[in-house]
Amino acid sequence: MKKTKTLKSIWEIINKKDNFLLITHKNPDGDAIGSILGFYYYLKEKGKNVYLYLPDNIPFVYQFLVFEELQVFSESRNINFNVAIFLDCGDLERIGEKNNFLKNIPLIINIDHHPTNTFFGNLNLVNSKASSTTEILANFFFRYKENITQKVSQCLLTGLITDTGNFKFSNTNTNSLRTAIKLIENGADISYISQQVYERKTLSSLYLLGKALLRLKLKDKVAFSFITIEDMEETNSKIEDTEGIVDTLRTLKDAKIVVFLYPISPFKTKISLRSKSPYIDVGLFAKKFGGGGHKEAAGFEREGEPQNLVLNVVEDLLEFIVEYESLLIDK
Ligand code: 5GP
Ligand code: MN
Repeated sequence: MKKTKTLKSIWEIINKKDNFLLITHKNPDGDAIGSILGFYYYLKEKGKNVYLYLPDNIPFVYQFLVFEELQVFSESRNINFNVAIFLDCGDLERIGEKNNFLKNIPLIINIDHHPTNTFFGNLNLVNSKASSTTEILANFFFRYKENITQKVSQCLLTGLITDTGNFKFSNTNTNSLRTAIKLIENGADISYISQQVYERKTLSSLYLLGKALLRLKLKDKVAFSFITIEDMEETNSKIEDTEGIVDTLRTLKDAKIVVFLYPISPFKTKISLRSKSPYIDVGLFAKKFGGGGHKEAAGFEREGEPQNLVLNVVEDLLEFIVEYESLLIDK
């Protein structure tokens, strides 16, 4: 289906239907929370009945976007939804194993910006050129000349800020900046958001970062580090405290690729990847292992513990890099 037709269909559905379930991914980041809450407030203001499905809780740093009591859906409830809208999810697995409730929902809309998106919806608004899912949502609202409130703008700008790394990653361009300007004109406060997101770290999360920094190593062009369950216990930290660690590791000079492993359950590890080279697509690498993401930032999960998996992952990456002949030009 052509993009303009998809946009129009989604617009019509939003106006005609009443009962919506909004869904985002596990271990949600700023774009996941910004897009789900921004869309939630927008639909609520339109008088719709809206529920949120969140596989994991809203991390502390994004709690400033919770402006009111939220209607949260749990599987034990029997609610008839007209539509489920997935936000920032490259594939269905991103929400975890529990997805039985989807069977009863007649229409699935998939709004996302990952190039590895599997087009799992009945309608797929997927734009891999967009910096963030919130950029897609903002432009959708602007296209239909919707008045978006300060609450909605604040949520949407948060996704733009976090997915562009404060407007410094390569997905920052005239479109993302123009969208940000319009959101600011609609009441979003850029310095307030940055302060909330980046300057309220807990001691636990900084100690955890310290552990990851002390273990950082560089092999060829691959920088790698990990944290263990024991590290998390010692520092009294939670999974959400791992957010941003990989972005500090990437500041290492000479690192072209950055890998960070952390435990998501006793025998399951998350592998977070970043590429600083235009020649190496870590999204492709993650896809080989059942994950996905973008050229510059991607991830996947593996059975096992970080300390046992790390060298294996680095070897696999080095092999993958060799396949990229063009890397030689990048020296
Ligand atoms: P992060 O390392 O910040 O968790 O994720 C980086 C990027 O890769 C994000 O855009 C995220 O959505 C994507 N990503 C991370 N893990 C997975 C995964 O397991 N599957 C897929 N499809 N995408 C992932
Ligand atoms: Mn995103």
